[in-house]
Amino acid sequence: MRTILIVGAGQSGLQLALGLQSQGYELTLMSNRTADEIRGGRVMSTQCMFHTALGHERDLGLNFWEERAPRVEGLGVSVAGPSAPGGHPRVVDWVGRLDGHAQSVDQRIKMAGWMETFEQRGGQVVIHGAAVSDLDVLIRKYDLVLVAAGKGELVSLFDRDAARSPYDTPRRALAVAYVHGLGPRPEHPDVDAVRCNLVPGVGELFVMPALTTSGRADILFWETVPGGPADAFQGITDPSEHLERVLELMEHFTPWEYARATKVELTDVGATLSGRYAPTVRHPVGRLPGGGLVLGVADVVVANDPITGQGSNSAAKCAAAYLESILERGDRPFDEEWMRTTFDRYWESARHVTKWTNAMLAPPPEHVVNLLGAGSAFPAVAHRIANGFDDPSDFENFFYEPEKTAAYLDGVREEAEAAEAEAEAAEAEAAADDVAAADDVAGADDGAEVDDHAPEAVRSFR
Ligand SMILES: Cc1cc2nc3c(=O)[nH]c(=O)nc-3n(C[C@H](O)[C@H](O)[C@H](O)COP(=O)(O)OP(=O)(O)OC[C@H]3O[C@@H](n4cnc5c(N)ncnc54)[C@H](O)[C@@H]3O)c2cc1C
Repeated sequence: MRTILIVGAGQSGLQLALGLQSQGYELTLMSNRTADEIRGGRVMSTQCMFHTALGHERDLGLNFWEERAPRVEGLGVSVAGPSAPGGHPRVVDWVGRLDGHAQSVDQRIKMAGWMETFEQRGGQVVIHGAAVSDLDVLIRKYDLVLVAAGKGELVSLFDRDAARSPYDTPRRALAVAYVHGLGPRPEHPDVDAVRCNLVPGVGELFVMPALTTSGRADILFWETVPGGPADAFQGITDPSEHLERVLELMEHFTPWEYARATKVELTDVGATLSGRYAPTVRHPVGRLPGGGLVLGVADVVVANDPITGQGSNSAAKCAAAYLESILERGDRPFDEEWMRTTFDRYWESARHVTKWTNAMLAPPPEHVVNLLGAGSAFPAVAHRIANGFDDPSDFENFFYEPEKTAAYLDGVREEAEAAEAEAEAAEAEAAADDVAAADDVAGADDGAEVDDHAPEAVRSFR
């Protein structure tokens, strides 16, 4: 049986290792941390994963936490208006229903659990932070070496693909806090959703439910414009101070979210994370000093900013694509051409994620502002944008080009008007029937009423 080394025990490395293991491949997994170190360490992500990516885990029977993790049924967008007394007002507010639910399982739980499962099933785990020189020696022992080590130092093996990497500096500073005690969301208290709060010129605040090491929690995640008014986490090492800063920014820029957060506390000592990196696409094949070739996986080759919450989704899709490619290869050599074709298969989905994510990092053009605003008036728009998080290729149809956005919104408006006219006609017909019936039964009233007083966001969700 073919022997494979995977360096890096994250979403992509472990998913691929477990997938190959189940097909009888002889796997070695190299991780710079033990399962216990990962579980007891610092949070690494907000890791919200949508339907398609969760499907890849289900296909391999790896959805161990699905029943315990909150089911994220919606995705909402709020936009803050210009500063006013009492904080920034909210000028856009909607939530769209996800066709399949999303979930966020703390990577500390998932990676530690998957690593233990891999070992229990007979896989070999080597705890070692691999250097290029190690790989130069190890490559002789394996049919294939995959580098799935995230944004760590091993990326130096893979050249930056300038044509696919429009930014060479970080576009956002990231600050995450996992908390307990967030109050219910008044707009839709019974529905768990990821909420994206956009504050023009300042950044974005994401709020999402998750399963963490101490049970259900919520994640508060600021993405702030470097050098902007909320770029305020550099040099903070104390977790309490970090949370205080997160809340101060919420109070000022997103008071509607702060109102729920006055009693929150950190879930544990490792509940905070901050940092920044430049989004980068790399060439997929790395050449070791001795001439051996290694194939990059997921973040190693496509590291997008987390503003669209896609990295873990992409890592799952990458692992699924590579798994298929390896299985199809059979006994033939894993040569350079195969490596490039394998990456291309992944790039087919990753290119859409990269395009959309990089677009979201730039100030939004007018047609995108209009599109986001239309989500409040038209549930169909909210629904379409929300489900784009699962399949970003759909944004090609209505997001990037002003003409396509306008055509899409015209179509939605026409459909809404037609539906309204139909409803009015039905109402008029029912009223005529009622008048006729009143001649026979005086005082008849079925009590049915449309709740026109429900807040807009809730009506949109239905
Ligand atoms: C703040 C933040 C929020 C995010 N939110 C989301 C989100 O909501 N949704 C989403 O889909 N994505 C999100 N992401 C992105 C997502 O977490 C990553 O894209 C995803 O984890 C990448 O998976 P991976 O397998 O490529 O690498 P990783 O998950 O980074 O795993 C790499 C592993 O390799 C190990 N390693 C590194 N170097 C070595 C070495 N030399 N030897 C051995 N082991 C090594 C690391 O310790 C790590 O365990 C977020 C990221 C950040 C930073």
